[in-house]
Amino acid sequence: MSADEDRSYVHEFPRRLGLPGIIDVHTHFMPEPVMRKVWAYFDSAGPLTGRPWPIAYRDEEQVRLKTLREFGVRAFTALVYPHKPQMAAWLNEWSAEFAARAPDCLHTATFFPEPDADRYVAAAIESGARIFKVHIQVGDFSPVDQLLAPVWEVLSEAGIPVVIHCGSGPAPGRFTGPGPIAELLHRFPRLRLIIAHMGAPDYTEFLDIAERYPLVHLDTTMNFTDFFDSRDPFPENERTRLLALGDRILFGSDFPNIPYPYAHALYALDRLELGEDWLRGACYGNAAELFGLEPLAQR
Ligand SMILES: [Zn+2]
Repeated sequence: MSADEDRSYVHEFPRRLGLPGIIDVHTHFMPEPVMRKVWAYFDSAGPLTGRPWPIAYRDEEQVRLKTLREFGVRAFTALVYPHKPQMAAWLNEWSAEFAARAPDCLHTATFFPEPDADRYVAAAIESGARIFKVHIQVGDFSPVDQLLAPVWEVLSEAGIPVVIHCGSGPAPGRFTGPGPIAELLHRFPRLRLIIAHMGAPDYTEFLDIAERYPLVHLDTTMNFTDFFDSRDPFPENERTRLLALGDRILFGSDFPNIPYPYAHALYALDRLELGEDWLRGACYGNAAELFGLEPLAQR
């Protein structure tokens, strides 16, 4: 797909569905040196990616912002995540500053199991954070680590959504998979977790979790694309539940770190043929409701 075809498909998509645009809950903006390290990691096809991963939108930050806006993305995130202690507070300072200069970005923050985590998480909320990101695979920590208990408490009280990469794809970690998340939700049932990549490859178990906990959402990041389907395809026999949980499915792309055009991520949902209402909810309505953005017009 050429850049023009990419753009025209993405433009046509919300228009056809009568949407004001697209809300993408899973995009990455981070301090330039960190982004470069992430790109270098993808380039090396290291053990956490498991295979070659050519990045489609490797541009300067201003260009990446422009690209998303040209795509008609009305709101997006700046998912940052630490891989070691004493990094999260600094990332949060950066993302607060980023959200201030990109008002269409939902102010994002993160944390790591460390003694001052509850303090800087409270500070991030105080300064306006609307969504958090946690990466269980890269961070290599348990979501039920004792040091995180006060953090989950605060987030649960505040009702702030947390995108959590907790699935065992593209490669498993020591604490990935549905088990630790079931344990976490058992302790904090009111957490608004957004399960990244729908928990792939353990789709069935994460659908069980979403059915059990009504505040749990699933983001579609990379799911259903050719790239993902070739390794972790969504089970055909779970389509009914995917449809039934339609009001808790959120479109995410992983922009800019994707090995295919942005349009393909939308097309991947389109070709599921789950109906226009499902698509309208997934690509705009559900996130608008979750974040209090301009609601979907009735049709
Ligand atoms: Zn991501």
